[in-house]
Amino acid sequence: MNEEISSIISGVGIIPKKSKGQNFLTDEYVAQRHVDYADIVPKDRVLEIGPGLGILTNILIKKSENVTCIELDEALADYISRIYGKNITLIRGDAVKIDFPPFDKFVSNLPYSVSTPIIFKLLEHKFKRAVIMVQKEFAERMVADVGLPSYSRLTVGIYYKADCRILETIPASKFNPKPKVDSALVEIVPRPSPFKVLDEDMFFKIVETSFNHRRKKIGTSLKLAGIIPKGVNLPILNNRIETLSPEEIGQLSDDIFELVKSCP
Ligand code: SAM
Repeated sequence: MNEEISSIISGVGIIPKKSKGQNFLTDEYVAQRHVDYADIVPKDRVLEIGPGLGILTNILIKKSENVTCIELDEALADYISRIYGKNITLIRGDAVKIDFPPFDKFVSNLPYSVSTPIIFKLLEHKFKRAVIMVQKEFAERMVADVGLPSYSRLTVGIYYKADCRILETIPASKFNPKPKVDSALVEIVPRPSPFKVLDEDMFFKIVETSFNHRRKKIGTSLKLAGIIPKGVNLPILNNRIETLSPEEIGQLSDDIFELVKSCP
């Protein structure tokens, strides 16, 4: 299959670009498992970002008659349109910028460079299940425990909105061109947040600002960003964000929200 993919790549006339995350999956068994994890029923509306040469698309169209693909690369979009045009709705362009159509299942081998914005965008939508391929280290950041170096803004952002788990690791040898690192299949299932916050904007602002300066004390980065006034002092602000669970960050956000509200 690897050779077949190489010959399709040269037939399509593209030189795979790292900037577009063009590492094509070559193993049909992995592709089948990827789609099976999504548990697609015929009435599901399916969204795939980056169909590439269509290894997942080819399976998706057998599961649902309502498949939409968004592809950035002109030559690949032409190829996909030629082979699968009758079975899918193809949107040409950048999935970070284009509005997603309504969907129930999200299945994608995500381009690495836009994995973060696409996952945050995905979480803004109502859907049933997403199964995505990402770099293994990125997958570890999605599900990390508090205190680990991989515990991040991404971990907290996902935990607030969904259950997330790594399904399996996929070796780099299953892609063409072969990337430097292994990948992982990850499942995201939306659920109500396990904790409530008084102001979500405040919560996400604190998460983003503090993780951008994860080595600084929370108070220092929030004061520098103008989120809390200089004179304010709460004991928890002496901590680093990476030591606080999402629930503790939620409590911190509520405390700051009340405090800022009461400031003249
Ligand atoms: N689905 C194919 C597979 O599994 O082999 C290709 C996956 S490849 C990792 C990523 C695909 O996303 C490529 O087809 C690439 O051209 C496309 N892509 C990259 N950036 C994109 C973006 N911002 N919006 C939509 N598609 C993008």
